[in-house]
Amino acid sequence: MVEKMKKSLRKKIKMVKFLGFDVDGVLTDGNIYLDADGKEIKQFNTKDGLGIEMAINAGLTVALISGRDSKAVSNRAQDLGIKIVKQGIKDKKTVLAALLRSTSIEKGETAFMGDDLPDLKLKESVAIFVCPSDAVAEVKENADFVTKAKGGKGAVREWVDLVLSLKNRV
Ligand SMILES: [Mg+2]
Repeated sequence: MVEKMKKSLRKKIKMVKFLGFDVDGVLTDGNIYLDADGKEIKQFNTKDGLGIEMAINAGLTVALISGRDSKAVSNRAQDLGIKIVKQGIKDKKTVLAALLRSTSIEKGETAFMGDDLPDLKLKESVAIFVCPSDAVAEVKENADFVTKAKGGKGAVREWVDLVLSLKNRV
């Protein structure tokens, strides 16, 4: 997969320092379980989780930007050591711009992974836009890279593994 990838994309991936992720449909399969009290239950993937920990340990900045707001996400982020967690975000573009302004990270060093139309609005704000294989059609058509795995089923891990393997290559 790495071999067949366009040289320009490979070059961009090597530059990445910031990995942004949508939550529902990326870190999860997109299903939301609600209990009788309206509390959300979400299912996360341990391989994706380890991938995120590996990215953080490698010195990358990891951020979650979600349209929904749930305690399950805060808990999972805390488990994995993700310090930047923005939830209940309607305008992801503005939030991402503010986030990047507060760091020394340049646009050319950023990537975002999302699965639906609100995420696609971030495409122009980042160097690389990535999506899982079960993202909506319009997102898949416009993504710079589509993982083989689905959201919540290893897509995050596949993307992180690719980033780390390319960055570690001389
Ligand atoms: Mg989503």
